[in-house]
Amino acid sequence: MKVLKFGGSSVAKPENIVKIKNIISTYNDPIILVVSALGGVTDLLLEAGSLASTQDQSYKEILTTLEERHLSTIKELLPVTAQSKALSKVKSEFNVLETLLEGAFFIGEITPKLSDKIVSYGELLSSYIISEYLISEKLDAEFKDSRELIITSKLNGKNTVNFTKTNANCADFFNSSTKKITVCPGFISTSEDGVSTTLGRGGSDYTAAIYAAAVDADILEIWTDVSGMYTANPKMVKQAKAIPHISYEEAMELSHFGAKVLYPPTIQPVLSKGISIVIKNTFSPDEAGTLITKSKNEKGKTVRGISHIGNIALLSLEGPGMVGIPGISKRFFEVLSQADISVVLITQASSEHSICVGISADDVEKAVNIVNEAFEYEIERGRIKQVIPEKDLAIVALVGDNMKSHQGLSGKMFSTLGKNNVNIRVIAQGASERNISCIIDEKDVKKALNALHEEFFEENIKQLNLFVMGVGNVGAKFLEQIKEQRKFLKENLKLNIRVIGMSNSRTMLFDEKGIDLNDWSAKLAAGEKADKVKFLELVNSLNYRNSIFVDNTASEEVSKTYSEYLSNSISVVTCNKIACSSAFENYSLLKSLARTYNAPFLFETNVGAGLPIIDTLKHLIASGDKILKIQAVLSGSLNFVFNNFDDKTTFHDVVKQAQEEGYTEPDPKIDLSGVDVMRKILILARESGNQLEISDITNNPFLPEESLNTANNDEFFASLIKHEAHFQSLYISAKNADSKLKYVAQFDNGKASVGLQEIPKGHDFYNLEGSDNIVLFYTERYPNQPMIIKGAGAGAAVTASGIFADIIRIGNF
Ligand code: ADP
Ligand code: ASP
Ligand code: MG
Repeated sequence: MKVLKFGGSSVAKPENIVKIKNIISTYNDPIILVVSALGGVTDLLLEAGSLASTQDQSYKEILTTLEERHLSTIKELLPVTAQSKALSKVKSEFNVLETLLEGAFFIGEITPKLSDKIVSYGELLSSYIISEYLISEKLDAEFKDSRELIITSKLNGKNTVNFTKTNANCADFFNSSTKKITVCPGFISTSEDGVSTTLGRGGSDYTAAIYAAAVDADILEIWTDVSGMYTANPKMVKQAKAIPHISYEEAMELSHFGAKVLYPPTIQPVLSKGISIVIKNTFSPDEAGTLITKSKNEKGKTVRGISHIGNIALLSLEGPGMVGIPGISKRFFEVLSQADISVVLITQASSEHSICVGISADDVEKAVNIVNEAFEYEIERGRIKQVIPEKDLAIVALVGDNMKSHQGLSGKMFSTLGKNNVNIRVIAQGASERNISCIIDEKDVKKALNALHEEFFEENIKQLNLFVMGVGNVGAKFLEQIKEQRKFLKENLKLNIRVIGMSNSRTMLFDEKGIDLNDWSAKLAAGEKADKVKFLELVNSLNYRNSIFVDNTASEEVSKTYSEYLSNSISVVTCNKIACSSAFENYSLLKSLARTYNAPFLFETNVGAGLPIIDTLKHLIASGDKILKIQAVLSGSLNFVFNNFDDKTTFHDVVKQAQEEGYTEPDPKIDLSGVDVMRKILILARESGNQLEISDITNNPFLPEESLNTANNDEFFASLIKHEAHFQSLYISAKNADSKLKYVAQFDNGKASVGLQEIPKGHDFYNLEGSDNIVLFYTERYPNQPMIIKGAGAGAAVTASGIFADIIRIGNF
């Protein structure tokens, strides 16, 4: 004999019930078919009951909707000839239900007894309709009311299955039953004195397990809406996978800690009989599902699954009067248990100074009152503090039989959570070492589950979630490079890069699953109005692990938001130089936020676009070297200008060309005045460990005063035309000295300067082409022959690739 249980979503719609028929038609053995109420019906019945008890008439609307739903299920499933009997039966059940609800309405109260009675109609009706449908399909089926078989007795005030009576009833009934299929309602039972009782929310699984044990079934099959017990709740973790084989204890632990796919008490009855459980998907019956058995799969993974329970509150009992006084914890737990409050997690500090318990947040008010009352005497005398609850918490647990024989798992768990800025409130490890759990903020649950899942199950595929501000020249190239490299990165570096949000100055676009990079531009144009504050809020509220904010703008306003991102553990990658060249205080604040919140702040492209200048500098310093002097040509734009300017061109035309080809800042004066180079040498000096401000840098300008004082680009370009003779004289002077004009930045002996220089033949800078940059690092290890980094130092493509490189650095972080 086999016992099959189909859950709420499996029976939610008529077409799903047809699927069930197709599945069971393939079985040759006799079957006990346990079904839940049609999906959502239990919740609605409870709601109707509670509305009625508050004398709210709207319970009637629920009743009408429920009646219509059941009647239409009959009409869709049964042939017309078989309908009238079923319709009138269901209508008459609804009349009784209506009377019960009216009772609650008139009295203005609902007792647990009445609530159980009302809620039992969900399973009663679904099982009756399904049995009638199977019979109409010519299957050898009959209906049996579980309330005639499963008997509960009161144990410590709770309805508990009386196995002696239940097993005897089942033996009597099933031994003499001749039908191939017996359809039974899940969840419902009867007390010894004949009153309807229930087995707890999700209890249909338990019903099926009780039958399986009673008849010594070959197998217990739990059919649901997912393909087994997963490594984590698949609704929270997209990458979760069904676990092929798991032990009873592991399954029990996972379900106790929130894996709703199996109601926790389900294992107990079948465990003692050694009956295997299979969890299968009604909507994908060919998938193998999960097998739950006694045997321990020793070769398996150490961590088998991750589960969580939301809506948790923490109660801490603490005070000096607890140390060395026996019986305090006994009293604490006793009052909670007497009030029927179940404790999900316990920790006690070794000093005995405090005991901390996790309970359902629904019970918290009650718990605080009764505990404060129970310890009134001690509280009045200052020996124990009033308990203060903390809410909006959740438990996250790692589960696995083999965890005990492995070191370092909790370290890995907590460092993963720490890296993702998930604050851990309480830690507990079960004595069985089959479970390590902790309490965290409810808002962090999704991030925590995904980060842990990635760490323990995803063979190191790391997902990076990007939020890109600025999709102009550089930004667009960057997105294109990501699109082209995604596959390579996934396969070779095990990095999965997704762009979740993007914005330009006009609009912004978010897609939680990742924006399709093939047609982002049209979608962005149709996106909502750009708003930097809202962008930040959205990034924060998504609360993804490995979130990276990418700034491809030159905006000061955007640079001011970095601290907010970093403080929320969101890494920042930027080609915008403003933040790093702002006041030293701000630069060092951003660096320290990055350290505190474990969120890298990278700006390689601030100097030399894609050239690895800052990274090299960092490595030199980290390995113990000291920077003595830096000499550099750091402006790709100025280099482009002076490499193209001669007596056959005009300075104006060359600058215009540089601007049009994307070699200058949007405001070219920032390049030509030397401000851009000042910022760069400032950043290099700071990265070498010096506390410098922009005002400490000497700037020897080559632009005439008038050009420097222009108010906009038009005025600026006009002034370049006016002063052509000045620029020509600079060129001629250099030419006559057999030299070339280069804009040089220098940092030496704590002092930095920038300015145009005539570079003679033979100098390292002389042959610098196009928009190339060059940096000479004179260090203690490279005192005479400097370390040289040289290459294209401006342009959208190389800048984009530099940003990309920073993203990869974070990926490997
Ligand atoms: P049924 O109505 O069939 O009893 P439930 O809703 O009670 O179904 O249980 C199935 C649901 O359990 C899944 O849809 C899933 O959201 C949730 N769930 C939570 N944790 C897990 C897990 N580790 N594996 C599978 N499902 C899980
Ligand atoms: N219908 C009940 C519930 O929703 C029992 C079950 O489906 O397992 O809790
Ligand atoms: Mg369930």
